[in-house]
Amino acid sequence: MSSSPVWHPFTQHGLGEEIPLIARGEGAVLHGADGRQWIDAISSWWVTTHGHAHPRIMAAIAAQTQKLDQIIFAGWTHEPAETLARGLTAIMPEALTRVFFSDSGSTAVEVALKMALGYFHNRKEPRQGIIVMEHSYHGDTIGAMSVGERGVFNRPYAPLLFDVTTVPFPAAGAEQATLDALEAACKAGSAAFIVEPLILGSGGMLIYPPHVLAEMAAICARHGVLFIADEVMTAWGRTGTLLACEQASVVPDILCLSKGLTGGAVPLAVTMARDEIFMAHWSQDRADCFFHSSSYTANPIACAAAVENLAIWSDEPVRQRIDSLAAMQARELAAISDHAIVTSTRQCGTIAAFDLETDAGGYLSNWAVHLNRFGKARGVLIRPLGNTVYVMPPYCITQEQLGQVYAVVRDGLDAKT
Ligand SMILES: *Cc1c(COP(=O)(O)O)cnc(C)c1O
Repeated sequence: MSSSPVWHPFTQHGLGEEIPLIARGEGAVLHGADGRQWIDAISSWWVTTHGHAHPRIMAAIAAQTQKLDQIIFAGWTHEPAETLARGLTAIMPEALTRVFFSDSGSTAVEVALKMALGYFHNRKEPRQGIIVMEHSYHGDTIGAMSVGERGVFNRPYAPLLFDVTTVPFPAAGAEQATLDALEAACKAGSAAFIVEPLILGSGGMLIYPPHVLAEMAAICARHGVLFIADEVMTAWGRTGTLLACEQASVVPDILCLSKGLTGGAVPLAVTMARDEIFMAHWSQDRADCFFHSSSYTANPIACAAAVENLAIWSDEPVRQRIDSLAAMQARELAAISDHAIVTSTRQCGTIAAFDLETDAGGYLSNWAVHLNRFGKARGVLIRPLGNTVYVMPPYCITQEQLGQVYAVVRDGLDAKT
């Protein structure tokens, strides 16, 4: 038993796995307190976009700490939030005119769901149901779990989760079933459809094509069902474009952003909405306002980090780095696809994934534990989702570092087969 009082997330302490103590991060590399190094092959759980401790983001944070640490955001404002909101409305789809702040992907989703229901409530239209996609993940708070896949992650909490209508994942060849189910759910008078565009992350890096995304958005629009894009993982270049929705020319009614919003440096989230949704909450009656906040809403230090992230997007060759990472990933995937147990290699922009042909086991598969442990011993932070191995590094990773990641994965597969 370790003597640390820390209770880690998604960690079975009973397995006695080593919990490395990280002292410093730089670019794609994490430095342990004991001098060991790890290449961060999963961007510290999908948040780090440009690289760890990007000097400009660190400097922006340092500068903001000298001015204003925190201020109530209900009825008060500050420069970093104003600048960030203007910057976001400038680079995100034009129809998304409103920016609501919170602090994590889960809360961005809770806010989106509440906005959708508030919209219909204030318009006196009786719509309440939420439509979701099979295998989705939208966070770990009660509402976010309710709209996500039910399984081992949330079985004990099932009594707390609300009912939703689930449409099947649009697997290749079965897309029409998804569209038909969505159409039927929309006709039944649902309020909103929430979906991860192009790739379902925690569900196993499951990819579906842009035309399906476009058709789903069109169905929702036809029936007046709000289309909520949860781009918490997919935004900020992960799928090759700033937003995944871009690839389908889809403009959602509500957009959730977090993870890469600050370049992955500090927690912050926004939920962006069309003007009609804001205007449904606008009146002389206080009872119609949007009832959501958390203590640290739009924390100035976090906003300053996000403002600098936007500046980096505008004046560093971020898109070129993304394109070159995507090309490197394609080469590495092609190379590892000849391994005997590697199947279903797939890629969406900077994200590469494949499955291991082995005993069933889903999320709790031994492979995840084995490769995680193997990577820890060999200098790579990798965390498979059960039998699904994925590589999602910061955009600054070099060809040599990425090659090392895949070499360690290959050795890890050989060590167990
Ligand atoms: C990570 C994630 C969330 C939850 O974000 P947190 O910041 O961990 O609360 C929600 N949706 C998607 C698609 C995610 O990948």
